[in-house]
This record gives sequence, structure tokens and C-alpha cells, in this order.
Amino acid sequence: MSELLRVEGLTAGYGGVPVLHAVDLRVPEGTICAVLGANGAGKTTLLRTLSGLLRPAAGRVLLDGADLRGVPVEQLVRRGLAHVPEGRGVIDELTVEENLRLGGLFRADRRALRGPLDEVYQLFPSLAARRGYAGHQLSGGERQMLALGRALIARPRLLLLDEPSLGLAPLVVAQIMALLRRLRDETGLTVLLVEQNVRGALSVADSGVVMSQGRVVAADVADALAGDDALRHAYLGF
Ligand code: ATP
Repeated sequence: MSELLRVEGLTAGYGGVPVLHAVDLRVPEGTICAVLGANGAGKTTLLRTLSGLLRPAAGRVLLDGADLRGVPVEQLVRRGLAHVPEGRGVIDELTVEENLRLGGLFRADRRALRGPLDEVYQLFPSLAARRGYAGHQLSGGERQMLALGRALIARPRLLLLDEPSLGLAPLVVAQIMALLRRLRDETGLTVLLVEQNVRGALSVADSGVVMSQGRVVAADVADALAGDDALRHAYLGF
């Protein structure tokens, strides 16, 4: 399996105050990597730095071997990186279809969205049934599906997902995890999955890292992390 994402010594923060300290990470193509850790551990900051929203103070990020330093966000999308932020960013006033079309904003062929739209509607039949609904008319689960669908419109290779299960009912969380597994298995999608829902994330992930105070304190295959009682007690709270 080739390595799609490699992060080396990544240090980043806000206003000169570091939050991430020399973070290393490797994610093989076509796998799901869970990023776990308590509130404030730096998980969201890691995703923001990977997607170019925050500039690293040190270290580097390689996507398929290419250094992403200084690459504009639009180019990152074209190279296959998609970020679904915490809170999801669905636009309430726009319809489901209009929200999905936003995901194609940086595609070279913006007019040729029919194919990707149909793929997303096939993955999410409930969105297809509500394509003319406004964002604010959707349930929490549907909004998360819409945010995911919008990211998939760009046909990413690497999906950065920030807490997709936040505030959702267990059944909806299970649907989302099953969908991630399906995307990995059927399309070779690579996912970096930030989650507070440790059990849910480790049930679908191939590997994982545990963060604490901006550092990676453990990295292993998912089964080993789930079975490590001391680690779970110390950092994952169960
Ligand atoms: P959560 O699950 O609560 O989102 P997290 O692991 O994603 O936690 P981050 O959101 O990355 O953690 O936050 C890490 C640290 O960075 C925290 O100490 C937080 O206070 C700080 N921080 C986050 N966003 C900002 C910001 N915009 N400006 C300054 N500091 C911030």
C-alpha cells in the first residue's frame, strides 16, 4: 500500500502560540486513520493545518509525495484533498443541490457536475429525495450527510473529517461509519477521521493516533489501540 499522507514534525498554532508540537503521521492510501484525544488535544488544529487554513510554523505535509507548503487551497482541492469541518458548514438558505454544487467550485470542469451529483445522490438516497429542500429544513443527520456529500463532489483522494458523529443519534452514526467503510473499500478513499466517539471511530478505522496536548502520544493499528486498557484510561476516557 502506498503512503498517501505523510506529516513530519508539524508544528502550528494560533497567533504564534504553538498548539501542535512536532506531529508525525502516516496514512496509507485506501485506509481510514482515526485521530483521537480529549477536548483541546489539537485534533481540529491538525485538520486545519493539513487543509491549508493554518500555516505551519515548522514541519511538512506530503500528499502522495508532494510537499504541500505554500500550495493554495484551490490547488489542494484539485490535488484531491477535501475537508469537512466541525459544524459542517451547510448553508441554511441554499437548497441541498445548491449546497452540493458548492463542492464543485474548484473543479476544473464546473459544468460537468451531473456525474458527481448522481453519485452522491446514489450514496445518500435521503438527499436525493430532498434535493430541493433548504439546508435549514434538514435533520442533523441529513446535514452531516450533505456536508459529506459536498466534499465528495470534488472526488477527493483524502477526506479530512472533523467529528462527523457529533450530536447525532447512534443509528445515524452507524450509517456514517458504514458509509466511510464502503467508500474506502469501493473507491479506495483515504480518510483522516477526527472523533470523540472512540468506539465508533475504531470500529471502522484501520489505524489511529491518540493526541494529547498537541502531541501524538500513541500510534498503532486500530485493534491494538482499542485493546490497550492503559491508553484508553489515560487518554480516551473509557
Ligand atoms: P475539540 O474536540 O474540543 O475540538 P481538539 O482536539 O479539536 O478539541 P483544538 O480545537 O485543535 O482541539 O484546540 C487545541 C487548542 O488550541 C486548545 O487549547 C484551544 O484552546 C486552542 N485553539 C483552538 N482554536 C483556536 C483559535 N482560533 N485561536 C486560539 N486558540 C485556539
